Amino acid sequence: MGPDDKPAGVACPHLTCTGCREYENRPTICRRFECAFLKARTWPVQWRPDRSGLLCLSELLSPGVWGAAVYELVPGRLDSTVGRAILEQLLAQSSFVVLITRDGRRILRQGLRVDTKEHIPRPHFAHDQRATESSPRGYSRPAP
Ligand code: SF4
Repeated sequence: MGPDDKPAGVACPHLTCTGCREYENRPTICRRFECAFLKARTWPVQWRPDRSGLLCLSELLSPGVWGAAVYELVPGRLDSTVGRAILEQLLAQSSFVVLITRDGRRILRQGLRVDTKEHIPRPHFAHDQRATESSPRGYSRPAP
């Protein structure tokens, strides 16, 4: 696999314990990637992925419809105080948030601000529609 062959959703073979072994030749998608922490610029430093154990993405999917994804880098961090605060923030600014647990489960959480009935999310965000209404980790929706 060359540096331009990194498929989405699988562990990258170029990642080493000291970072990316192909950093100078990393794929375009890696060069363009910006996590939600970097984009926001106002999040507390405790929310940075290396400290929170959560990697967050936020993307404008169509006019007025934001989707967010939270990857659990460290087991259990979605249930932490910081994890809950990050989720609240993302729910307040997004139509929906997908939580991806360390063991690969995807949990879709709907925000309340935008009616997404007619919106078809991109596949990245829509892997597990079955879990839409579940709340297995004790999260609650923000007040309208
Ligand atoms: S920057 Fe891209 S190629 Fe390098 S380790 Fe990360 S995902 Fe892999």
